[in-house]
Amino acid sequence: MTRTVYVNGEYLPETEATVSIFDRGFLMADGVYEVTSVLDGKLIDFEGHAVRLERSLNELEMPAACSKEELLEIHRELVKRNEIVEGLVYLQITRGSDGDRDFVFPDPETTKPTIVLFTQNKPGLADNPAAKKGAKIISIEDIRWGRRDIKTVQLLYPSMGKMMAKKAGADDAWLIEDGYVTEGTSNNAYFVKNGKIVTRPLSNDILHGITRKAVLRMAEEAQMEVEERLFTIDEAKEADEAFTTSASAFVMPVVEIDGVALGDGTPGPIAKRLREIYLDESLKAAI
Ligand code: PLP
Repeated sequence: MTRTVYVNGEYLPETEATVSIFDRGFLMADGVYEVTSVLDGKLIDFEGHAVRLERSLNELEMPAACSKEELLEIHRELVKRNEIVEGLVYLQITRGSDGDRDFVFPDPETTKPTIVLFTQNKPGLADNPAAKKGAKIISIEDIRWGRRDIKTVQLLYPSMGKMMAKKAGADDAWLIEDGYVTEGTSNNAYFVKNGKIVTRPLSNDILHGITRKAVLRMAEEAQMEVEERLFTIDEAKEADEAFTTSASAFVMPVVEIDGVALGDGTPGPIAKRLREIYLDESLKAAI
């Protein structure tokens, strides 16, 4: 099926949608993005993604391409037109194109941002068999830039990290900076020891995950103990269990780190419970 996508105010078949070769997203990775999941035809935590998008745009002095209400309308329209029951809505806003290449930002009065949205159909997203098996992780050095709190489209190193994991027979990589785990290539990272969930605190070093925020709130509501502090990969390897969170994979159990099996090598009870709670509560709140 040819998808209907959204580009700068128009709904178009994906084969007819175009963006300038001078677009700064293409030339300079000068753009930000969000990924919102869809379950039961509804958007999960749209508000959180919209708020983070606004923050990313502000941090980069990029004008908003449209209002939050318009964004919601576009998301819903694309879900409807593409008949998405389970899947994702990808949104990207770049600083646009002034018809040439220059390091200096173009004048926002005359150069409008580029806004693109498209859907990805993912039947079985909630009941993902990978979550039943759990993920195998390798650790690699974190050599990304210093503003990982801004959700930019500079995804080359995370992409390379996934490839390194694949080549090593694993599923994903956790990134290490100054001896401490920052996060996963496209998710936030956690381990559990003696019932306590440990994850890195928010700063410019990691993306402020929308799923992270929801899952930590739900963990506390479920009387689980949570500690936000720096942790090493060795601590994680000695943990009872581990997991990651992201909008596209929800809560994903981790069963192996650098070849070391965690617990009995199967998804741990806390990760499984949090996945259930997250899916259940998010569905109830979906719009
Ligand atoms: N950290 C990084 C580097 C990411 O790319 C992502 C998601 O893409 C996350 C964390 C998880 O964020 P969220 O839960 O908002 O999807």
